[in-house]
Amino acid sequence: MDVGRIIKVSGPLVVADQMEDARMYDMVRVSEARLLGEIIELHSDRASIQVYEETGGLGPGEPVYTTGDPLSVELGPGLIEAIFDGVQRPLDEIREQVGDYITRGVEVNPLNRERKWDFVPTVKVGDKVEAGDIVGTVQETTLVEHRIMVPPGTAPGTIKDIESGEATITDVVATLETENGEVELTMMQRWPIRKGRPYKEKMGPHIPMITGQRIIDTFFPVAKGGTACIPGPFGSGKTVIQHQLAKWADAEIVVYIGCGERGNEMTDVLLEFPELKDPKSGEPLMKRTVLIANTSNMPVAAREASIYTGITIAEYFRDMGYRVALMADSTSRWAEALREMSGRLEEMPGEEGYPAYLGSRLADFYERSGRTICLGSQEKEGALTVVGAVSPPGGDLSEPVSQSTLRIVKVFWGLDASLAYKRHFPAINWLLSYSLYLDNVAVYFRDTIGAKWNEMRREAMRLLQEEAELEEIVRLVGVDALSAKERLILETAKSLREDYLHQNAMHEIDTYSSLNKQFKMLELILTFHHQAGALVEKGELDLDLDKMFALPVRERIARARYVPEEEIKELDKIEKEIKDQIAQLAGEGGDEDA
Ligand code: ADP
Repeated sequence: MDVGRIIKVSGPLVVADQMEDARMYDMVRVSEARLLGEIIELHSDRASIQVYEETGGLGPGEPVYTTGDPLSVELGPGLIEAIFDGVQRPLDEIREQVGDYITRGVEVNPLNRERKWDFVPTVKVGDKVEAGDIVGTVQETTLVEHRIMVPPGTAPGTIKDIESGEATITDVVATLETENGEVELTMMQRWPIRKGRPYKEKMGPHIPMITGQRIIDTFFPVAKGGTACIPGPFGSGKTVIQHQLAKWADAEIVVYIGCGERGNEMTDVLLEFPELKDPKSGEPLMKRTVLIANTSNMPVAAREASIYTGITIAEYFRDMGYRVALMADSTSRWAEALREMSGRLEEMPGEEGYPAYLGSRLADFYERSGRTICLGSQEKEGALTVVGAVSPPGGDLSEPVSQSTLRIVKVFWGLDASLAYKRHFPAINWLLSYSLYLDNVAVYFRDTIGAKWNEMRREAMRLLQEEAELEEIVRLVGVDALSAKERLILETAKSLREDYLHQNAMHEIDTYSSLNKQFKMLELILTFHHQAGALVEKGELDLDLDKMFALPVRERIARARYVPEEEIKELDKIEKEIKDQIAQLAGEGGDEDA
């Protein structure tokens, strides 16, 4: 091991010289306390090192040990249900060893070395395999089958030996005969966090990731393998939305990266997440979740690394052929860590002190999302969808982190404090939000739900936009200035907001709507609009709009969201009632005319 010398210490940044053999992003151990660090800048023999532990007390002259390896994560059984810090130290293990405050230089293995797993081979002696191929499985939790893969970079070969049965992650479970000689396979691999894991091919974002949240699926869908951003003014319901996504999104694995600033933010996550239930199985959601948590008593540098640690783990599960949903909350805290390090490196500051490379770093991160054909000779398709939260100070989205993020991600769910104040949840503002995947996923919706879907969503959105314009008129000259047609638009838009967009996450049935149910619910609201509109069109000037808006079927439409999926046929009945009741009203109108 080579040794350099510290020449300067500035908070989490340590500068050392005599580092000529080191490489950029190499992992190092700083001082005799062996603090974990990573080289983030290198000029000839002088290295700037980001240190992931408290550097208090360090001084010039102390040694820096290079390891020759980049900062990497361990990948294998034991990831699921784990809670790691930003550099993959298991929080439970550390707490057991040293208590709540992480003392320095603790070296713990990210993955448990003693635990035995029941390895079940899926290939046999003589089979040809290559990098990325699955050679066996381990039932990691009741919800996740961990697929053991030939690590990327391994030459293709023939299985020479493979053993089923109990093994630790470092035991050899298979031997490969390759052109470079024999390769022993264990259940664990390592991967450098700053480098995306390889895949065969990236595919277009044509399939929506269904979340069961109506405003998202219908109006602002995110594609599988896509990217989305959600700002979170305090109290606007960001936590509830993230929990809803974690629970309901059409993904097998959830990776949640929490970068909190205030200590209690992270404590909440650490307390709340383990309480969540997986709705489909009734088991704890943690049984298919990996948590990365940076609490406030951890050095800022670990926060910088955490999003890479998280996404590398997420890619690993994607490579098994899983659909993975990754949530990072919040990338603003991550960017602040980046800014602090940049300041200490004395780099030229860009906007608001953030380094000029903020945008490219964010892009590098989000670009690791995608729907992929996985590495290997076996047909596997994986997806990694990334949802990043931003928490701009004062909710002002014009600041650099939000702006850089919005330039990269394709979906924006604009949480709105004023909607939350009115208790309209999810408080996603339908006028500000957008999804650039709408065109991509239109074909999917057409083929699975019907051509009418895209048409209906366009019409509904137009009504909501018209409502905003009409409200402006009402504010200026009062509701009497509106025509009957305009009043109907307001009424329908209200119904869209209250009966459709509003969705109670706490209600057993309302919490999730299948696409089919979303379609039928939207159809009800629009059928009423069309039927009522036809009456209005007929020019029945003395038509009593209030009476029409008070038809008993309106209450039925409003309560459609509480109809269980198994009784979805009930919604067809409501549709018939709409037609009957409006026809009857038309009849009455006709009588009066006579
Ligand atoms: P934030 O994380 O943005 O501070 P929370 O997600 O904790 O806010 O939400 C604040 C409160 O708003 C919740 O306790 C809950 O009462 C309410 N809320 C948020 N979203 C919903 C929802 N979809 N359905 C029902 N209530 C909600």
